[in-house]
Formats: sequence, C-alpha cells, structure tokens
Amino acid sequence: MSVNCEACSDLRSGIVIAGCRRCALRSIARSPEYFASLKACKLTPAYMARLQTLGVVEQVHEEVKAVAKEIGA
Ligand SMILES: [Zn+2]
Repeated sequence: MSVNCEACSDLRSGIVIAGCRRCALRSIARSPEYFASLKACKLTPAYMARLQTLGVVEQVHEEVKAVAKEIGA
C-alpha cells in the first residue's frame, strides 16, 4: 500500500491518480458497474471489462471488494 499517493491518503477526495493501482481499484469500487454487479449477484460483462484492465478478473474482484469495505461503499 502506497502512502505516497495523495489521493490514497485522503479516501474521501474522490481523486483518482492515473497509474496508481489503489486509485484504480477505488474508482471501480465506486462505479455503477460494481453496484450493478452486486445487485445482480454475479460479475456482469461491463464490470468484468473494468476488472480486466487491472489483471485477472476473479483476483481483482477480491481486491475491489476489500477496497469497497475500506471506503464504506
Ligand atoms: Zn492512489
């Protein structure tokens, strides 16, 4: 976990720094695609497309869930 990222040190800022993985995870955890996927109780194609930008879908999904918990989403 990087504390050098300004946006990551202020989780409520809503700022996303390009190239910062935690910022990217956070932006997904706040996205309509994430909420739609939660509602559907499955990984929706649109959500999976976002996960794929960060790596292996299932693995990134776990990371997003952890981040979502952190930011209270
Ligand atoms: Zn960051």
